[in-house]
Amino acid sequence: MKSKKSPMRQCLGCRYLFPKNTLIRFVCRAGETLVLEELQKLPERGAYVCRSMSCIEYAFRGAKRVNTSLKVKLPVSVIEEFKQTVLEKEVIADEKTETANS
Ligand SMILES: [Zn+2]
Repeated sequence: MKSKKSPMRQCLGCRYLFPKNTLIRFVCRAGETLVLEELQKLPERGAYVCRSMSCIEYAFRGAKRVNTSLKVKLPVSVIEEFKQTVLEKEVIADEKTETANS
């Protein structure tokens, strides 16, 4: 029996459940912008996504998933911009490829 159990949260991309502390958490601030929530202490409703490029791409494709999950109505432009931030900051090292010969 494990004495410490991390709560499970659902990835917005693949829809599987993962321990909360392995996922990227983000929240909507002031109803108009998205921010990464690295300390997991913001009071706003949060949503979660895997540290995987495919899940991030899927979760932030269009506005619907994020808006439904966070119960907000953000424009696609805000979500697209946030996706770039997440990809730059959070995607795991082995999915980062050198772009030298692209
Ligand atoms: Zn996922």
